[in-house]
Amino acid sequence: MEDATILDFEFEAHASPVAVADREALLQNPGFGKVFTDHMVVIKYSVEKGWHDARVQPRGPIQIDPACAVLHYAQEIFEGMKAYRMPDGGAALFRPEANAKRFRDSAERMAMVPLPEELFLSSVRELVRIDRDWIPNSEGGSLYLRPFMFASETFLGVKPASEYLYMVIASPAGAYFKGGAPSVTLWISEHYTRAAPGGTGAAKCGGNYASSLIAQAEAIRNECDQVVFLDAVENKWVEELGGMNTFFVFEDGSIQTPPLGGTILPGITRESLLTLARDAGITVREERYSIDQWEADARSGKLREAFACGTAAVVTPIGRVRGRETDFTIGNGGPGILTEKLRADLVAIQRGEAPDPHGWLKRLF
Ligand SMILES: *Cc1c(COP(=O)(O)O)cnc(C)c1O
Repeated sequence: MEDATILDFEFEAHASPVAVADREALLQNPGFGKVFTDHMVVIKYSVEKGWHDARVQPRGPIQIDPACAVLHYAQEIFEGMKAYRMPDGGAALFRPEANAKRFRDSAERMAMVPLPEELFLSSVRELVRIDRDWIPNSEGGSLYLRPFMFASETFLGVKPASEYLYMVIASPAGAYFKGGAPSVTLWISEHYTRAAPGGTGAAKCGGNYASSLIAQAEAIRNECDQVVFLDAVENKWVEELGGMNTFFVFEDGSIQTPPLGGTILPGITRESLLTLARDAGITVREERYSIDQWEADARSGKLREAFACGTAAVVTPIGRVRGRETDFTIGNGGPGILTEKLRADLVAIQRGEAPDPHGWLKRLF
């Protein structure tokens, strides 16, 4: 067996990549998750060969058998990360080792064979280097990277698969919101939970998203933007949104976020903001916060701001929270001052516009 951590990538160039003028037009306003680059990474795993056949090849459909295990039992995990254009024209990834580590942890929770972290990192680097012209130059733009892996064995028996396919695709993304996000309204889900103790809440797996969609649809029906999920045991403690962690800002200037502990996805944005806040001398608590306390503190003014965070939108202010019998506004309903400051501080590091004391940026070229 080869040493899987140092696989060489075979490169097959796209025979007819998107023409330069068409690419430039697409990059003007790529939106999110709709436009894709010319190439993709594919690496296979089998029990006999281990990780093998690492390739960067033209992006396109793949063929799988109807009995492919992932289609039936959902053994699937993914990551989300971004390559940013640097002021000097180069590019960098933000904390990619953290994504590699989390991908390994997700694989272990889903009884999948973990991809060596070095291979995860080299796969992402290879793809971004080859499709480097797809990294937007526009303000707020980035190249969103989606590494993922699924059980590719053709077998209907219920067991951890013996074959996996790991892939990376890349999608240019525009500024989520130009000059800072508008506030969102959250819907408190009463019937549905996202993650229970002992479940898969801390793993970045597609199944968590599948089970959250009905609650998200309920939020939209109630004219809210996103769901905020409460804990599955007491239906009381604020956990997170479908794909973003939550933060609270108090009148004394302290901030709080729910503690990890198996039911909350360990967000890299969350961890980075905690670090930046501590660096700035802000008191930071990782403590549970009940939905009733949230409402009481918002009404009394003790709670000044709240926001959600994740790679895609970075920081999203929470302006209002609604449920079947609840409706309260946070602050004046608009983006808060500390929320904006933390967002701006993090974005400046990600874009190479501010010093990077923790060495979070990894230059690609
Ligand atoms: C990916 C994700 C997040 C955010 O994680 P980041 O590393 O900050 O992008 C938060 N919650 C859920 C459920 C997620 O899947």
